Formats: sequence, C-alpha cells, structure tokens
Amino acid sequence: MPITDMRKLEAVVSLDDDERAWDPDGPSTLPMLISDSLIPLLSNPAIRHQFVPTASENRDCIGSLDPQQEAEHHGTKRLIHRYGSRAAFCTTDSCFAYCRHCFRRRFAGHLAGPASREEILAAAEYAASHKGIKEILLTGGDLFTLSDSRIEEMLSIFRSICPGVILRLCTRAVLTCPERFTNNLMDIIRRYASMGAPFFLMTQFNHPEELTERSCRAVARFVDIGIPAFNQSVLLKGVNDDEETLIALSDKLLMNRIKPYYLFQDDPVRGTDHLRVDIERGLEIERNIRASLSGLAMPQYTADLPDGGGKVILTHQYLKGRTMHDGRPRYIFETPDGEERYYPE
Ligand SMILES: *Cc1c(COP(=O)(O)O)cnc(C)c1O
Ligand code: SF4
Repeated sequence: MPITDMRKLEAVVSLDDDERAWDPDGPSTLPMLISDSLIPLLSNPAIRHQFVPTASENRDCIGSLDPQQEAEHHGTKRLIHRYGSRAAFCTTDSCFAYCRHCFRRRFAGHLAGPASREEILAAAEYAASHKGIKEILLTGGDLFTLSDSRIEEMLSIFRSICPGVILRLCTRAVLTCPERFTNNLMDIIRRYASMGAPFFLMTQFNHPEELTERSCRAVARFVDIGIPAFNQSVLLKGVNDDEETLIALSDKLLMNRIKPYYLFQDDPVRGTDHLRVDIERGLEIERNIRASLSGLAMPQYTADLPDGGGKVILTHQYLKGRTMHDGRPRYIFETPDGEERYYPE
C-alpha cells in the first residue's frame, strides 16, 4: 500500500525531526504519497529527500504556485500552448508518488482527476487545427496512473485526429511504479506507436540510484519497440548538486539507452526553496560536467523563467569578446581548459 501519512511512514523508516514536523495542512499544498517501489530506496538520502516531506516546505512560503503562469496559456482547458511548435496536455493530476520539488504543485493532486473524453477530443482538435503544433506532451500528473482502457482511448483519439503530431509520453512511473508496464499496456503502446508520427519516452531520473534494475527494465520495454528515451532531471540541493553524482547519472542513463536531455534549474515554486541550487553554482556544475561528459551524455542546463518567460538554456560563456587585430576584427574565446584563443571574424 502506498504511504500517505507520517504515521505509516514511521512504521517503515525512522524519521528525523524536520520530517516529523511537516504540517500537511501548511502552505506547501502538495500531499504526501510514496509508492511501494520507493520504500526500499528511502535509505538513500538523495531519494528520500525527493519524496519525504519536511517542515522546510512549510517555511518556504515565498514564490508562486504557478511561476510559469501556465494557467494563462491554455489552448483548451487541459492543453497548455506556451510554445508555437509544441503543447502540453495534462492527462491527469495523479502520480504514483509526489515529488517534493514538483513545479505543477497547483495542479498535481488537485485537479479533477483524469481528462474526460470531451477534453481529449478538444485538445486533439485544437492540435489538428493549429498546424504549427508538431509535438504534444502527454503529461500530468502521470499519464500511466490512468487505466489501460483510458490510455488506449487517449492514444486512439490523438492518433485518429492528429496522426502527424509526435507524442511525448512523460512519466516518472518507470521509477515509482515499474510494474505498471505490463504486457497488455505495452501492446497498446506498440499498436499506437506504429500509427503515424513517432512516440518518445520522457523520463525523470535525478540520481543514479534511481536507475534500479526494475526501472531500467521498464524503460527498455519502450526502447526495444523503437520508442527513444530522453531524461529530464532537476538540479536539487542534497540530491544531485555535485559533479560526481551528475556524471554517474549521465553515464548510467546512456548505458540504459536514455539520452540526458535537460537538467532543470528547480523553479521558484512555493515550498521548494530548500531544494534549490543557486544559478551561479549551477553554472559552475554545468561547466565542470561538460568538461568530462561526451556531447551525447551532456544534458542542457535550463531554467523556466518566472512570469511565463519560457525556457532558456544556461551555459558557461566561452565567447569572451571581440577585438581588432591588424585592422581585422576577431573573437576572443576561453577554451574548456581555461586558455585564451582567437577566432578570426
Ligand atoms: C517544457 C515545455 C514544453 C516542451 O519544451 P521542449 O523545450 O521542447 O522540451 C512544451 N510545453 C510546455 C508548456 C513546457 O513547459
Ligand atoms: S511525477 Fe512529475 S507531476 Fe508528479 S509529482 Fe513528480 S514532478 Fe510532479
């Protein structure tokens, strides 16, 4: 049985004072939910930090519940059309476990359950009539908390109304509920993935220890049927804010045929301040890991700007300036090793 309160949690792990003092009715607004698969992983502080709430959440009451102002970019009730070429469809508000750093806090655990048939139809028709939309993110919440028959209904509607639109299956269930990916579910996915534009699997692994044998097997079921896997992690204090952990994470992702895609700066959402890493330190980490990771292994460090500004890539500046040399302009660069080089204009 999933754990939903501190009393039940205390029966399986011993709690510290900050965890015991968490107030579920405080301003944090995200309920506690820890799935069975996570329980054996809670002995790892990096994983525990992501799922066990603490009183720090109650103290961090600065910040908005919706810093991206997603609520203002709705194409349809559940379709967020923030970027021209892609849109995010909120399939449900449920997840198998709630991540304490979740940026959709206004939403996860609070919306009125799964999308209705009418809401799915409205989103698919919106995508079909806005020709600029090339990709739809099936996100949430977690798509895979839905029943097989609801997932089948959703995929069949999107495939019949907008077959040319790529579908991204965004999920943390490969970690939080790997047993969800049954033969029956995978048969459904395989069937619709072969009709029309490709599917992509978008995972969220934040620490190498989350890539358990079972979660890797769940991801492999997608990759084996031709669905490429990409990982979006969140940079989190006390979880993965050191170079060694992030390098090990990227190495393990690649070994499991998952391309590291984004490393997100944690958004300034209420209740998450204690998990956030300074951007200055984030940039230092980005530079250091880039020096030892291949292009394939390197995620893009990215921030989603407040007030609905959108995503921007954060990277160390290697271009230092431009000067004149012998009457001709040239650029000044810093090499990854910290030396200076010139590049003629
Ligand atoms: C992040 C995001 C996307 C996808 O952005 P990519 O940079 O293409 O991964 C789409 N819609 C919304 C609302 C998003 O927040
Ligand atoms: S799985 Fe995603 S939507 Fe669900 S709580 Fe975690 S970050 Fe939020």
